[in-house]
Amino acid sequence: MVFRPLLPLEAPSPAHICPLDQACSYLDQAARELKLNAGIIQILSNPTKVITVSVPIKRDNGEVQVLAGHRVQHSDILGPYKGGVRHHPAVTLREVSALAMLMTWKCALMGIPYGGAKGGIAINPKLYSVGELERITRRYTSELIKDIGPCVDIPAPDMGTSAREMAWMMDTYSIYEGHAVPGVVTGKPLSIGGSLGREMATGMGTMIIIREALADWGKSFNGTRIAIQGFGNVGGAAALLMHAAGAKIVAISTGAGGVFADNGLDIPALKAYADINGRSVVGFPEAKPISNAELLTLPCDVLVPAALENQINEDNVHQIQANIIAEAANGPVTLNASEVLEARGVTVLPDILTNAGGVVVSYLEWVQGLSYLFWDEERVNQEMEQLMVNAYRQVINESQERRISLRLAAYTLGVGRVAQALSDRGLYP
Ligand code: NAD
Repeated sequence: MVFRPLLPLEAPSPAHICPLDQACSYLDQAARELKLNAGIIQILSNPTKVITVSVPIKRDNGEVQVLAGHRVQHSDILGPYKGGVRHHPAVTLREVSALAMLMTWKCALMGIPYGGAKGGIAINPKLYSVGELERITRRYTSELIKDIGPCVDIPAPDMGTSAREMAWMMDTYSIYEGHAVPGVVTGKPLSIGGSLGREMATGMGTMIIIREALADWGKSFNGTRIAIQGFGNVGGAAALLMHAAGAKIVAISTGAGGVFADNGLDIPALKAYADINGRSVVGFPEAKPISNAELLTLPCDVLVPAALENQINEDNVHQIQANIIAEAANGPVTLNASEVLEARGVTVLPDILTNAGGVVVSYLEWVQGLSYLFWDEERVNQEMEQLMVNAYRQVINESQERRISLRLAAYTLGVGRVAQALSDRGLYP
């Protein structure tokens, strides 16, 4: 029996794979492998706190609009809650709850002293002015003022938010506290305590995990053929770093479509092209157009889905030709597709490991903020590299010892550490 959270949630959309169902299934698989008792599983399936606040704002035309702002705090067994704040029209309490749970396992897997959380407001930020977005973010922060803090819950940017929103959150929280509190958020601008290396962190973490996996196959980036879906913060940084390390990035796509070059794309030139073409790669000279669907099924050594969830699913899994799939996005391979790929011997590097570079550098930013001592970029990258490589090795060992997939190994490590801490701390009262 898969335990489900006891939450009053909206019904799942029948057209989509429910992210909370997937998250609970992964927890269930890990719990069975670890032989956890039903009481522990029930605790871990339920978030500690589910907060929905009303966010009234004045639009620029004088009208009042009331938005619903969510923050789900899944677990603080290992440390303060940690997780992003999303501004996206598809935000639901169900999705936020799933992502909060995944953050708990991700932080535990990486060995950083955090629990998991996620927040969000269902808006399309493109339909609001900068002033309106500032009022939304500040009001959302003030409604959550007693539920966040450097030792309580530390938000970060996610889809639709950036360093700008984190600066507004930090400023609002600091005004309530009466002094500057840099540790309340991560992903801040450098001027107020952000960390060097944060911008490239998730892409760099992805590059490190792929590099380690190639090394285990006796290979390096040199000449390795890689296709990347998504050319934003994660896909863009990973592409630049792997290209610089000698990889042939044969295809890249964005929401508008993709490009392919059999001999490898000139990634710095493609980045410069996208920067002046609305972040799209379509029309890049010396490359052939390719659709997103074609990109996913290209013959290549490594496929990096770095855009959306559920991209590799029952419809296209049998056409996938890559030997390694590195999940840089959250949940790009569905549970069923993952099982098909594993049975075929394809290496699937799981998202909670592959894209953990962002939260790792967030942790390093928080440590620097709490100690008021800031490091150079080399030190940040070294510390991140060590945490990523350690976690990768632990996942490989766990997978070999238990004879389970890398995904399940990542979950048994993450879930197992939280369950152990829960059992050591005991149940209050
Ligand atoms: P982003 O908005 O910077 O970039 C997303 C990219 O995906 C863009 O290039 C966009 O054009 C492309 N895209 C959108 N729809 C597409 C489609 N249908 N087909 C192909 N490409 C499409 O976002 P990001 O920060 O790079 O995040 C990407 C993924 O990584 C998300 O799943 C996010 O949750 C996950 N992630 C991000 C971070 C981080 O630090 N940014 C950390 C962990 C996980």
